[in-house]
Amino acid sequence: MKPAWTAFFGIASLAAASSGCALSPLSTTVDRRVVLISIDGFRPEFYKSADYEAPNLKHLAATGISADAMMTVFPSLTYPSHATLVTGVVPARHGIVANREYSAEKGVGDWFFQASSIKAPTLWDRARAAGKTVAIIHWPGTLGANVDWFVPEVFGPNFDFAEDWALVTKNMKKELLDEILAAYPHPGFKGFSDVDEFTTQAAIRILPTYRPQLALIHFINLDLTQHATGRASPETKAALKTLDEKLGRLLATLDLAKTTVFIVGDHGFMDYDKTINVKRSSKFFTHSEGGQAAIYSRDKKSDLRTYNALRKNARDRYTVLSTANTRPAADAARAARTPEPRRPSRCPESRSLRAA
Ligand SMILES: [Zn+2]
Repeated sequence: MKPAWTAFFGIASLAAASSGCALSPLSTTVDRRVVLISIDGFRPEFYKSADYEAPNLKHLAATGISADAMMTVFPSLTYPSHATLVTGVVPARHGIVANREYSAEKGVGDWFFQASSIKAPTLWDRARAAGKTVAIIHWPGTLGANVDWFVPEVFGPNFDFAEDWALVTKNMKKELLDEILAAYPHPGFKGFSDVDEFTTQAAIRILPTYRPQLALIHFINLDLTQHATGRASPETKAALKTLDEKLGRLLATLDLAKTTVFIVGDHGFMDYDKTINVKRSSKFFTHSEGGQAAIYSRDKKSDLRTYNALRKNARDRYTVLSTANTRPAADAARAARTPEPRRPSRCPESRSLRAA
């Protein structure tokens, strides 16, 4: 497996619990496992700044390898970003170009829950083809993935927790659900932190018991808390602290001498003070998510005219991209701006992940 540095992106970073030290070179150890943990809406301040309380993350960053910044993809949304994390290619190639499916013909549809929507080979495809065992726990866009242990990320249109819990339990194997619940009698979801707790409990059950060679794990509450309360709110700081505690419990169950842990983020957050309303028109189909909007002209002959008109009227209020100019510019910007990884000045004396 290629180092995550070169293959992956993310505003955040990561701490490799054991790969940054000469004491445990990856290339000479055959019985190794990889755990890729995505914290939604994660960014380097969370482990670099004294304003945030995250002892486990800070310990990992101090004793492993961490980044000061990384570039995400365009559009910087959860589902496109997570598909890039597991394919190494941009959304224009893997096809997950938004959180939700949409088209001029059908309008806005469901979220991109299905693994079959990803049009590029994934990490779990490659791992399974190589005879490795794989666990997926709450990773976006993986419904139907052919892996050994699977806990879905799936939810209804209304963010109704009872409905979401029913969808999760319906879309996973009953034996595995019973096994997790036997070890941790979970009452269902009452909030997004409960979703992360179930993810934690599933990981604590699956990883030490079955020791999958590749595990993908995704936590959601930090993202939703930032959406609701702001990127540096007291609630966000509390959510980070809570998540860090869950990570500590999970990481303490792993055999870190044989495990490389990557902690990444899919995108960060920016404050904004203005919005742009994209008018509906019979001539265009539009769909906006986050800080971007897709505009399709229903008459393909007018594509170039539309593109030029949008550029002419931008006046620094927005940036216009097209499939013709997006990829080379993004690749060049990424090559120019992606910083070199910062290596630790010393190797950890202990691999304990408990906070100092
Ligand atoms: Zn996200």
